[in-house]
Amino acid sequence: MTMQPKAASRFPHRAKRATSAVSLWLGLLGLPATLCFIFPGPLSTPDLRVHYPMELLRGLTQGGLFVGLALGLVGLLFAGQRLRACAGIVLAALALALGGGYAQPSELSLDAPVIGLDFLVLDLFVLCLLFVPLERALGKPQPVLRRGWKVDLLHFALCHALVGLIAAASVLPARLLFSWLLDFEFRRVIAAWPLWLQFVLVVMVVDLTCYWVHRAFHAVPVLWRFHAVHHSVEQMDWLAGSRQHLGDIIFTRAAGFVPVFVLGFADVAVYAYILLISFHAVFIHANARVEFGWFGRLLASPKFHHWHHTADPSAIDKNFAVLLPIWDMLFGTALWRKEWPQDYGLAGGQMPETWLGQLAYPFRKERHA
Ligand SMILES: [Zn+2]
Ligand SMILES: [Zn+2]
Repeated sequence: MTMQPKAASRFPHRAKRATSAVSLWLGLLGLPATLCFIFPGPLSTPDLRVHYPMELLRGLTQGGLFVGLALGLVGLLFAGQRLRACAGIVLAALALALGGGYAQPSELSLDAPVIGLDFLVLDLFVLCLLFVPLERALGKPQPVLRRGWKVDLLHFALCHALVGLIAAASVLPARLLFSWLLDFEFRRVIAAWPLWLQFVLVVMVVDLTCYWVHRAFHAVPVLWRFHAVHHSVEQMDWLAGSRQHLGDIIFTRAAGFVPVFVLGFADVAVYAYILLISFHAVFIHANARVEFGWFGRLLASPKFHHWHHTADPSAIDKNFAVLLPIWDMLFGTALWRKEWPQDYGLAGGQMPETWLGQLAYPFRKERHA
């Protein structure tokens, strides 16, 4: 009897808080989407642009902006979280003033360098749609806008906006070092194998490479300075995996691309791997208490990777594999525990809490962690 009024009074408060947060997110998605419509040349990715269902995207943007504006007003008038509500209103109003979903392309948008703002907005939209409900249903209780979310969103934004540059930088070392292999017959033989077989091999060779690169990031002090940024997350969720230093991202991807380039796998097999890893890398960081049972020995689960992020000193330097735990089992670094970790983050030392501070961290003189 005594519990009911408490629950009833808590619900409206949570609903009110949610209106401001959703308004803010819709503003954060809607304004860059509008800018993509106005400046498609410099702000969107040519390879993606040609496949877009434009009417649907324009309608979604416009609808999202009106909903964001309305929820922001509700949040402002009837709930706390006024700062978030105001930010949501300002972002949505600005986007609508610029034309919103029906903004027309500017003539200034020709021949500028590519920034993947469209990729940023679309990926953020899809990930929110998938993971926010999943985490509410299966995660341990924690706010969607948990501590550090803004910093992680900036890491996410930078990595997505620079997607073209990062890709170019990541393929460069392999091309510079191994182009002399291009005419070798074995590359043509491998490229002619069945695509499913190539896909399996891509997964295995890239994952094995990334396993050892990841171990090197933990073992070599100069590399650890970059990777410590990723390990400084103290609350896991779908956005937490985005906290990665650009140096960490480019170095890992460049190393992973070397065997792909050398062995000459078909593009389709490589793209299928990229699709899988893009989703899986987000999933294993999610605040979703999902365990795969025996299948978890074949494919890394959130629990497997959460133990890699624990601050528990008894579990340091375990579970390095990204996709395939078999590497950890083979090389003696696998950790299987029944329970979930209690604490996450760096076991020692401190990481700056600002985005710029984290980007500068590897280059600072006084280093900890
Ligand atoms: Zn690590
Ligand atoms: Zn991680």
